[in-house]
Amino acid sequence: MKTVEDLTERFRERGLRVTPQRQAIFGLLHADASHPTVETLHERARSSMPTISLKTVYQTVHDLEAMGEVELIHLGTGSVRVDPNVEHAHHHLICTVCGNVRDVLVDVRDLRLPARDRRGFTVADVEVHFRGVCDDCAARQLS
Ligand SMILES: [Zn+2]
Ligand SMILES: [Zn+2]
Repeated sequence: MKTVEDLTERFRERGLRVTPQRQAIFGLLHADASHPTVETLHERARSSMPTISLKTVYQTVHDLEAMGEVELIHLGTGSVRVDPNVEHAHHHLICTVCGNVRDVLVDVRDLRLPARDRRGFTVADVEVHFRGVCDDCAARQLS
């Protein structure tokens, strides 16, 4: 994900307004590998900007998505997650207990569907979700 300065410049180039609230969201996403939900992002933004609205966070995230700076992904955790890693093709590790998400770089280019299982589809993309229990949840289950 681009830096706050780069994103500010790109938003202005497109004639989009850049407010301190929006810059706070850029900053939060830049430093975040946790794939937060929009609601989580809002909670975090409020700790430094108590008046920021959920609507502002949604709008900013959607503008970032429209510009290809983040991806909004569905990982079966109940809410859409914001993925700032658009630079590297990757897959995800997902904790089925707490919804923790991590990027994994694994090469699945050799994963092929036999022709008879493709049912006439032209396959363009493969997405792999590794589901399991994260180390924090595993530790909690033991204690
Ligand atoms: Zn977990
Ligand atoms: Zn990711």
